[in-house]
Amino acid sequence: MKRLAVLLAAIAATPALAQGQLPRDVVPVLYDISVRPDAAAMAFSGAETVTVEVRKATRTIVLNAADLDVTAATFDGKPARLSIDKAAQQLTVTLPRAATVGRHSLTLQWTGKINQSASGLFATDYVNQDGSAARMLATQFEAPDARRFAPMWDEPSFKARFKLSAEAPAGQMAVSNMPAVGVTTVAGGRQLYRFGETPVMSSYLLFLGIGDLERKATQAGTVEIGVISRKGVVDQGDYALAAAKRLLTYYNDYFGQPYPLPKMDMIAGPGSSQFFSAMENWGAIFYFEPTLLFDPTRATESDKQRIYTVVAHEMAHQWFGDLVTMRWWDDLWLNEGFASWMEGKVSSELNPTWNAEAAAVVSSREAAMGQDATAATHPIIRPVQTVEQIGEAFDGITYSKGEAVIGMLESYLGEETFRRGIRSYMAKHKYGNTVTDQLWEELAAASGKPVANIMHSFTLQGGVPLVNVGNVRCAGGVTTATVSQGRFGLDQPSKAPQTWQVPLVLGTVGGARADAIVSGAAPQTLTVRGCGALVANLGKQSYTRVMYDGAAHDTLVRDYTRMALSDRLGLLADDIALGMGGYQDLSRAFAAMDKVRPGADPLEWQTVAGAYAGMTGFFTGTPLEQPLRARSNARFAPVLAQLGYDAKPGETAPVSNLRQTLVGRQGVNGDPDVAARARSYVAQLRTNPTAIPPAIRQPILTTYAVNATPAEWDALLAIARAETNPVVKNSYVGLLGLARDKALNQRALDLVKTDTFTAPQRAILLRSVAGRNPDLAFDWAVTNRNLVNSFLEESTRSGYIVGLGAGSNDPAMPAKIQAYADKYIPATDRGGTTRALTQIAVRKAAADRVRPAVEAWLAQGS
Ligand SMILES: [Zn+2]
Repeated sequence: MKRLAVLLAAIAATPALAQGQLPRDVVPVLYDISVRPDAAAMAFSGAETVTVEVRKATRTIVLNAADLDVTAATFDGKPARLSIDKAAQQLTVTLPRAATVGRHSLTLQWTGKINQSASGLFATDYVNQDGSAARMLATQFEAPDARRFAPMWDEPSFKARFKLSAEAPAGQMAVSNMPAVGVTTVAGGRQLYRFGETPVMSSYLLFLGIGDLERKATQAGTVEIGVISRKGVVDQGDYALAAAKRLLTYYNDYFGQPYPLPKMDMIAGPGSSQFFSAMENWGAIFYFEPTLLFDPTRATESDKQRIYTVVAHEMAHQWFGDLVTMRWWDDLWLNEGFASWMEGKVSSELNPTWNAEAAAVVSSREAAMGQDATAATHPIIRPVQTVEQIGEAFDGITYSKGEAVIGMLESYLGEETFRRGIRSYMAKHKYGNTVTDQLWEELAAASGKPVANIMHSFTLQGGVPLVNVGNVRCAGGVTTATVSQGRFGLDQPSKAPQTWQVPLVLGTVGGARADAIVSGAAPQTLTVRGCGALVANLGKQSYTRVMYDGAAHDTLVRDYTRMALSDRLGLLADDIALGMGGYQDLSRAFAAMDKVRPGADPLEWQTVAGAYAGMTGFFTGTPLEQPLRARSNARFAPVLAQLGYDAKPGETAPVSNLRQTLVGRQGVNGDPDVAARARSYVAQLRTNPTAIPPAIRQPILTTYAVNATPAEWDALLAIARAETNPVVKNSYVGLLGLARDKALNQRALDLVKTDTFTAPQRAILLRSVAGRNPDLAFDWAVTNRNLVNSFLEESTRSGYIVGLGAGSNDPAMPAKIQAYADKYIPATDRGGTTRALTQIAVRKAAADRVRPAVEAWLAQGS
């Protein structure tokens, strides 16, 4: 309780001036920015006139700038003095005399650099279909990188209007948040694009893209929706375009506010990032190609689902994030938790065969709980003070736990009531900034329920609740159970008892249901009408693990196939996690998994396959590794045989996804049939680039890469070098790090040192080696630290190298990671270090705990 109380006080007193936040004496009203990029020189020049509102007479104006050479400033036409604080990324303009309260005009001029990786203004190099070299420019400003483009008040609460103009080479297209209002030819045949003025918005949402691009558009009411790509592939945007059109109608209705801009472009960048796959710039959403373009000759059903969900996510941000924005980065989860939840909700409603809601029980919910059940967790809302901490805020807790607790709240309040609250929140705060409690206020008003009390217990403290269910009895047609709660932890039992207010639905299999709130540490007796196996957290909408006593668990296993899909998935996931955490014997999870038989839902098979892969990971490099791989192959070979290698007409997405998973797992586990198929397919690639059926393309390539001999690895390298499609090339580069042969891992690292691949591709390759051989990759990266940092985005630097070692089972690794962090990472920016160390510790503790149970299970035979 102390922890929660302290945090509440901290939140209530959120100061206007946390460390690194700008003074509010002077605020921007309108930026008129013009830039002239020189793509060949990887540099640009810029100038701006900012209309500012002086709220309190002052002689100094402080704003943000990073990596810019600011050369001149005037204030109301008179020269002003400049000083820059590099570490704070702040620019101070000192005026000849104090500015009076009211509107004034500030002008600045600067030069800046174009980056190789995605922050600020950055370049992506690729090869055109005719073999010529091409370079596309785009911007990426979230979180604090607009200041690398122009001096700005680069914090989300300094909303202003933007008028951007940019010079583009003759024949190239430029795109920004608003449509161009004029394009004129200037010196050297270059074109000057002037874009319309934006509504008030945060600086991190501004966008500029320039390149040899084409655009395809469709009209949705008064809004034009466009897809923009490099030349020759714009038709691959048809799927996203159709999805976006449907989604716009859905969101206009859901949020109760029409999309406020005249157009919404979706721009495909032919590159990649270690940090993000798409960005919700208002009216100009940027995507890396695989999350926007659908190439039917290579992409799979799961790629299509990913495009849909990413488009749905970024479009949800056009309202939740862009129209209403968090006041400061400590409430980032408001943006990301909500958009992540919405992408699942809308996918579920508009694509019912995907079973997206049930899938979330074992995907995003498990991802959140995995991180949240360790000492490295943190509250959803936490103080953010340094630039590095802003980057670290984009983690699994913000996204996946945020998604889970929003879903829990919608389920508790009811869909209609929840939407009514969201609509009034949008209406009240549009074009403004908010803190989380302002959302709770609207939802409480709409529902009459104590929203803030429940939600504070989930957002202001870290950790996963564990609801214990026991003494289940049925008498007089009523089932009663004793329910208590505590914290579920994978590393160590919590020192202080922790409690939540957990909304919990109880039900009997096929019978009645009852709603309750589990609160406090004392056991409660709950009742539900009817008799039969008791399911707690029916529908699995609440963010909690559930542990049954032995008798209640036996009954559930007996009635397993009569439960709804989400409850079957929830039972499997909880049993596996409780077994790994040492809360109950792993044999309970094996008993539940045994109920998954031919004919079970593909999502159940995915869950079981995930559990087998998890166990194999714990014991990689030990005598248990091979028996586990063999057991896995024996279990899943018949399932794969039944699915077949070829996609069947009309099959659902979960079926296609399961095929992909199983082909990959069997191949990685050394199944000779899959390995032979992989060799034969890849041999055909040299003459036929689309030889591998899309449905199994990725797992077949992975199988080939994992099992590669030196000669086969050389062949793969040749294919990667020759590939011109930037997306396909990235995937080949990633494959080069996967070989089981350690000598080939070393050769992959040697490649990272050369300029064979682009900066983002080098980051992909190094991370891929770490997935196979974390010790080698970490040691190499430490030795080559400067090189590695040179090809990383700034925001990923503090976590990338330490993260390479996170998969290691070598007892020496934690000390190596710690030593590296002590030497090179400031104490304030060690979130990634803590996560890596925790991952190692949790894996080791779980492996030690479950080894006897796994050995016994393997000895039993299947
Ligand atoms: Zn997002």
